[in-house]
Amino acid sequence: MCLYCGQEATMKKVLMLGTGGTIASEVTPSGLAPALTSAELLRCVPEISSLCSVTCEELFSIDSTNVTPAHWLTIARAIRAHYEEYDGFVIAHGTDTMAYTAAALSYLIQYSPKPIILTGAQKPIVFENTDSKTNLADAFRCAVSDLRGVMIVFNGRVILGTRARKTRTVSLQAFSSINYPELAVLQNGFLMEYIRPSALPAPVFYDKLGERVALMKMIPGADCGMLSYLLEHNDAVIIESFGVGGLPSYQGSGFERVLREAMEAENTI
Ligand code: GLU
Repeated sequence: MCLYCGQEATMKKVLMLGTGGTIASEVTPSGLAPALTSAELLRCVPEISSLCSVTCEELFSIDSTNVTPAHWLTIARAIRAHYEEYDGFVIAHGTDTMAYTAAALSYLIQYSPKPIILTGAQKPIVFENTDSKTNLADAFRCAVSDLRGVMIVFNGRVILGTRARKTRTVSLQAFSSINYPELAVLQNGFLMEYIRPSALPAPVFYDKLGERVALMKMIPGADCGMLSYLLEHNDAVIIESFGVGGLPSYQGSGFERVLREAMEAENTI
C-alpha cells in the first residue's frame, strides 16, 4: 500500500534470461564452466526479491566465446515472445562477447520503451569475493527503472548497447563506453540517470541477420590478398582502417585496386 496515495503498490515484473558465462560458473576439474541456473543465481542475491517479481528462463548455458548470431536471434525471440508480459528484461551473459550480443540486440530490438539489460561478472557468483551479486542487483535496479533500450550494466556503469566494448580482461571495470557517455551510474544501490535513449510506444523487432559479414583489421604492411579473399567469401566486409578511414595507397599495396574491382563487380564494401 502506498503511504501517500493509498493505492496498492504493484511490483514490476522482470524476465531473467540465463545464457551462461562466468557469473553462472562453477569450478570443475577442467576449469570454470557454466552450471548455475538463473533461479540459482537469484537465490544468491535475496534483495532482488524486494525490487520486483522475477520469472526465469534458461535459453542456454555456455561460455560466451561459443555464442553465434543464432544465439542472438534466440535471445531476441524470447524477449519478443514475452515483451508485453514484463516491465523489463535481464540477460545474464559471459563477458567475452557480451558487447557483441548487446550490439546485435540493439539492432534486433529497436526503440524499446522498456529496459533490456545485459550483465555478467568477472568472478563467479559462488566465489566469496565476487562482483556477480552487485552486478546482478544493479541490473535488476535498472530493469525496474525508466531506462529504456538495450544496455550493459556492469561495475556500476550503464552503457548503451551499441557503444560497449570489453576493454579489460581482469579488472572489475571490464567494459567501456566508446565515443559516447555512460547512460547512468549506480552507487550503493542508487541509480543516477544522465541520458535516456529515444524510444517508441512499442519496439520495432527484426528477426533476420546477415551472417556473411567479415571484419578486416588493417595493420601496417597488410596483404591486400586477405581483403580479396574476404570479399569473395562474404556479402559484406567492414574494414577497420587507420584514422578516419585511411587505407595504404603506396605503389604495390594493392588495396585501391582490390576495392575498385569489388565496386565494379557490385560487391558490398
Ligand atoms: N569466456 C567466458 C565467457 O565469456 C568467461 C568470461 C566471463 O564470463 O567473464 O563466458
